[in-house]
Amino acid sequence: MPSRVIRNGPRKSAVNDLLSPAATETRAAIRTVLASWASLVADERRLNPPARDIGALARFLSRHAEWIASHPAAGEMVDEIGDLTRSARKVAYPNGAGRVRVGDCPTCNGELVVLMRNRDDPLPSEIVCTTAPDHSWPATRWATLARKMQQSQGGGSRHS
Ligand SMILES: [Zn+2]
Repeated sequence: MPSRVIRNGPRKSAVNDLLSPAATETRAAIRTVLASWASLVADERRLNPPARDIGALARFLSRHAEWIASHPAAGEMVDEIGDLTRSARKVAYPNGAGRVRVGDCPTCNGELVVLMRNRDDPLPSEIVCTTAPDHSWPATRWATLARKMQQSQGGGSRHS
């Protein structure tokens, strides 16, 4: 019989996830990557760079999305931000907690999972593709997604 006194389960601190080193690190990485792309855009377009704030950087980059799309480094930027999105989701939802698999992505071969958030989370629940970060459907578009998924499943028109 183990006689170890268990005071607190060591891994029960889900409440502290916001302060976890991994989350802090991911936030810093997001800021660094967005800031470096924003400064590339600002330099080349002779604009004032935005504040080093994730929201401001993201808004700045979205405003210049079309210009970026025709830039030779666009692919690299998409890859970098895609990687960050994936690692941020892993940190936010470790061990698949709060993730429920809902089916196959109708757009690619990825898997769709629903990210259920706590009621006090400012972000809405959404369904995301585990392969392509830009395949995501907020709750308001779930009906559209359901139709797409039905269409892609019934695409074979197989008689049983
Ligand atoms: Zn997908």
